[in-house]
Amino acid sequence: HDTSHIRNFSIVAHIDHGKSTISDRILELTRTVDERDMESQLLDTMDIERERGITIKSNAVRVMYDADDGQTYQFNLIDTPGHVDFTYEVSRSLAACEGAVLVVDSTQGVEAQTVSNASLAMNANLDIVPAINKIDLPSAHPDEVKEEIEEDLAIPADDAVCVSGKTGEGIHDLLESIVFLISPPAGNYDAPLKALILDSYFDEYRGVVATVRVFDGHISKGDDLLMMQGGERFLVDGVGVKRPAEVLMDELGVGEVGFVVTGLKDPESVRVGDTLTYAENPTDEPLPGYREAKPMVYTGLFPVDNKEYENLRDALEKLHVNDPSLTWSPETSVALGFGFRVGFLGLLHMEVVKERLEREFNLDLIATSPSVDYHVFKTNGEMVGVRSPQDLPDVTCIDHIEEPYLKAKIICPPEYTGAVMQLAIEHRGVTTDMIHLTQKSVELHFDMPLAELILDFFDQLKSRTKGYASLDYEFSEYRTSELVKLDILLSGDEVDALSFIVHKDKAYTLARGLCDKLKEIIPRQQFEVPIQGAIGNKIIARSTVKAMRKDVLAKCYGGDISRKRKLLEKQKEGKKRMKAIGSVDVPQEAFMAILKVD
Ligand code: GDP
Ligand code: MG
Repeated sequence: HDTSHIRNFSIVAHIDHGKSTISDRILELTRTVDERDMESQLLDTMDIERERGITIKSNAVRVMYDADDGQTYQFNLIDTPGHVDFTYEVSRSLAACEGAVLVVDSTQGVEAQTVSNASLAMNANLDIVPAINKIDLPSAHPDEVKEEIEEDLAIPADDAVCVSGKTGEGIHDLLESIVFLISPPAGNYDAPLKALILDSYFDEYRGVVATVRVFDGHISKGDDLLMMQGGERFLVDGVGVKRPAEVLMDELGVGEVGFVVTGLKDPESVRVGDTLTYAENPTDEPLPGYREAKPMVYTGLFPVDNKEYENLRDALEKLHVNDPSLTWSPETSVALGFGFRVGFLGLLHMEVVKERLEREFNLDLIATSPSVDYHVFKTNGEMVGVRSPQDLPDVTCIDHIEEPYLKAKIICPPEYTGAVMQLAIEHRGVTTDMIHLTQKSVELHFDMPLAELILDFFDQLKSRTKGYASLDYEFSEYRTSELVKLDILLSGDEVDALSFIVHKDKAYTLARGLCDKLKEIIPRQQFEVPIQGAIGNKIIARSTVKAMRKDVLAKCYGGDISRKRKLLEKQKEGKKRMKAIGSVDVPQEAFMAILKVD
């Protein structure tokens, strides 16, 4: 039970630097996947990942590599996401590895998530193999990138391998470097089992399937295991590895990564970060596990059809097995009925979760505008957390409100520093530091409210820097702010699901922008719909959706039945995503309109 031929590593990088493409080439070169079965971004198995071209979930596969020394090595490779919302997913993967391949795009150089991923890997004490990718492109500048790796990341770049995920050049050298530079796992085959649950998903037939890394001991079918924190006990239904299709094995040995079929049907019974051990002969101490992921953004999720409420709860519980960062609590809205206030790691995470709930669980959902977690201090000395504008106490009871602030870091070429600083000011940000990394890149530090970042900050940053700036951030502290609740009235009635907490200085501009946007989004009805923005009893902005002039069918001059039917169907299709609020049909986009206000 020698582990000297095992290498466990994650592939980490800034988004789009080529992690998934390099993983593909590794699968190909090690003949893990037949050439005829080869597709691009093979490890991005979810539909959303394929459509968006991004990795959302880490995916662990086993490949066997015949090295130049004549020996065969077992690689357990974990492809990880690069977007800042999924940093938590990356740190989970790193905890299962001895090494990390740090990919840097040779046409872009070191970017914000390169820095954050490199420091995650260093803090986890991993052996790091830098890989400089996309050297097939004419604009590649690998030597400068090597310098950046040494200077910005303090990682020796002598060992950096130049590769092309596209052509496959250098991938062989990369595999050799992995053999030489990454340590084999330590651990004792005969010791009591210690296995870390790094991921899991719910399968209707097999129950919860957990991805684990075995640190001590070994697991086979029939073993009587115990979840050390959760306390659940079960008999193993089977073990195996992904190659990348699931293959059942006799055993997962010490140092290996693979999956365990638990047979447990209660989605709550398996917790990511928990330690598996033998029920009869347990290990003394569990593995450190993971720190809890802290939600940053909250939105209301409501089923379009209120009868789906229990199904939505069930879906959240099942999705939670696969996405432990999800949190939720029931929420009631006058306009939208019963739903949940759900916590997310960021806006992309929110979009992804909503889409997964709709697709994987066949639900139609309305999401309301995102909010952060405000700390409201009442005049009676009490503090309440407010994650939904509806929960804001009456103004007369509020002493002051605190909102979460971030430390944000932006890396961009020097010519864009002015534009970036301007953007930060517009979002109530303050520049705290500016570091010249190299001649071609500057790192700017800001303090800014999280609430500003979740609006349109990221899109604006991309457009004002022509895509050259990258952003990373983390929560820093709560600070007092002058915040007010902006209400929206349709036909004179306040719609609770459209309210929003804003900074006092921005209330007027936002109210005006929002009224204009809603006017575009809300379709014409049989009658005129006035839209008003209000703070307390004071109306501060207004617009009007004019009444529909004629019936849609009037255009069809009576005769053409099939055309009539088509039009009606189209109208129905449009209706599906509408929610009748009072007598007004309001489409889903209206609740997110705040994100679209320029
Ligand atoms: P990830 O976000 O790090 O997983 O990046 P992907 O593997 O999805 O790659 C992002 C984009 O870069 C895709 O369009 C790839 O086809 C492209 N790409 C990746 N590696 C290379 C390379 O070596 N050369 C070129 N020219 N394009 C590449
Ligand atoms: Mg990817």
